[in-house]
Amino acid sequence: MIQIASFEFSPFSENTYVLYDETLEAVVIDPGCYDHYERQQLKDFIEKNKLKVVKLLNTHCHLDHVFGNEFVKKTWHVQAYAHDLENFNIGFLEASARMFGIGHIDPTRIDSFIEEGDLIEFGKSSLEVIFTPGHSPGHVVFYNKEQNFCINGDVLFKMSIGRTDLPGGNHQQLINSIKQKMFTLPDETIIYTGHGNPTTIGFEKTHNPFL
Ligand SMILES: [Zn+2]
Repeated sequence: MIQIASFEFSPFSENTYVLYDETLEAVVIDPGCYDHYERQQLKDFIEKNKLKVVKLLNTHCHLDHVFGNEFVKKTWHVQAYAHDLENFNIGFLEASARMFGIGHIDPTRIDSFIEEGDLIEFGKSSLEVIFTPGHSPGHVVFYNKEQNFCINGDVLFKMSIGRTDLPGGNHQQLINSIKQKMFTLPDETIIYTGHGNPTTIGFEKTHNPFL
C-alpha cells in the first residue's frame, strides 16, 4: 500500500511528493525544496519515518520542480529519472532562473531516461510512466492503477491546465495529452497536481473550463 506525503515548496508553491510503502522504500517526485529550511523539512520527514529513498523522479524539469534535485541526489545517493526530451529544460535552467528573478539554481542532470510504458519500481510497488507532453516537451505522469492515483505534475490542475507559454510549450499538444491520455484513466483517479489541491479525472471532465 503506497502512502503519499506532499510538501508545498518555494515561492512557486510547488508540490513535492514522497511515495513509500510498507517496505519503507521511497521515491521523491519533483523536489522543489528551494532553501535550507525546506530541504531540512524534507530530510526530517524521511528520517522521522525511517524511509530509504531509492529514486528521484521528475514529471518534467522546469526550475520549480528541480530546485532540490541535486540536494536529493547527494543526500540519498540516488539517480534522477526523467524523459530525455526534458534535457531541453535542463539546458534552459539558468536562463529560466534569470527570467523569474531567482538568484541561484544548482545545475543538475538527468541520470536515467524514462518513457511511456516504463514501470518505476520501489519496495513492493510500481508506477507506470505515461508520456504527456505540451506543458513541456518531455512531460510524463506517474500512474498507479491498483490505488487509482496519478502524480500529474503540471498537466491538469483543479479547474485549470498547465501553462504553455514557456519555451517548449505547445497548447494543442497539451490538450491532446489530456484528452487522449489523462481522460482515458478511470473517473475516480485522484490527480495529484504540481500546484494546488488534488482533483479527480471525473471532476475535471465535467468542470474544467479549458477542456
Ligand atoms: Zn512546469
